Amino acid sequence: MPFQKGNKLWRLAQHSSGKKHPMYNHQYSQETITKMRLAKLGKKQSPEHISKRVMQLKGRPNLKNRGELSGRWKGGTSSVTQSIRACWKYKEWLLKCYQRDNYICQNCLKNKHPKDVHHIKLVKDIIKENRISNIEEAILCKELWDVDNGITLCRGCHYKIHYKRIQNEK
Ligand SMILES: [Zn+2]
Ligand SMILES: [Zn+2]
Repeated sequence: MPFQKGNKLWRLAQHSSGKKHPMYNHQYSQETITKMRLAKLGKKQSPEHISKRVMQLKGRPNLKNRGELSGRWKGGTSSVTQSIRACWKYKEWLLKCYQRDNYICQNCLKNKHPKDVHHIKLVKDIIKENRISNIEEAILCKELWDVDNGITLCRGCHYKIHYKRIQNEK
């Protein structure tokens, strides 16, 4: 019987407590417990936030394994970020930045391979500020494809920039 205000179960609950309470022997399933825990965490938390919590639980991660410094880096935890980096618009943006910078790393001013284009204002920040939740919204976001927000860097300099950023965030 569903628990509804006014029905028999509800009246029982009003008059009983402790061992007499109809929910006393109720065992929550593992799934319910997980759901309740997630509800407690709040809906506002992004997957990124949750993964941060997971990292905290696992202990402090090695800095070298974080963010773009990691070989496993695929544009952060967000699937939107991954879709952005995989789409034609991103490749077009890379090309525009390369051409403007004459394919030269703007940090060490050498023409090294491989090359990256770094978002001066980070993709994750743009996504957050513009509340982008899918690739269609991302494509429409002018800020994301602003060539002035891109800078051509060689892989080594790109890593250095992110390493500095992580140290500053400490
Ligand atoms: Zn460089
Ligand atoms: Zn970067």
